[in-house]
Amino acid sequence: MARVPIRLYGDPVLRRQSEPVETVGDDTMELIQSLMETVDHAAGLGLAAPQIGVTKRVIVVVHIDGEGRRQHLALINPEIVSACGEEIGEEGCLSIPGIYSNVKRPESVVVQGLDAEGSEISIEAKGVMARAFLHEIDHLDGVMFVDKIGMVKRSLLKRKLNEIRKRSKEITKSPL
Ligand SMILES: [Zn+2]
Repeated sequence: MARVPIRLYGDPVLRRQSEPVETVGDDTMELIQSLMETVDHAAGLGLAAPQIGVTKRVIVVVHIDGEGRRQHLALINPEIVSACGEEIGEEGCLSIPGIYSNVKRPESVVVQGLDAEGSEISIEAKGVMARAFLHEIDHLDGVMFVDKIGMVKRSLLKRKLNEIRKRSKEITKSPL
């Protein structure tokens, strides 16, 4: 399993509730590898398994370090254990290309889950990173950022969203 097509807004898989990973095994490693390759190819900052057609609770968030290198944080069965503050920031999504909008989110979060080796980890994230974790975890519950913007703004985006919905039907079903 390498790079796979990203499912677009309108694809029913993006609205499903993802299942927790019971045992971290080779298939989980392969899934994480695919998420990393796919998010890098798309130059995105995060990707959740349903976006490549797999309804498992696995996400990858990309951290860009001081030297501009992309570092991946993979989390299995991620959960928000605490959230603090409030911040409005612009968001986009690889499944909704070309659409950006402000979304209100907590300013900082503590996320827990398993890393790629299956060990429990806890990550404290602020600002853009907190936003990335919240955005990707939403995907595991079938929630997309356009669900969180106002009705007026959403109606302005309706035509663009419908165009993406049409394109989503043309995406080849991945062989997973
Ligand atoms: Zn997204």
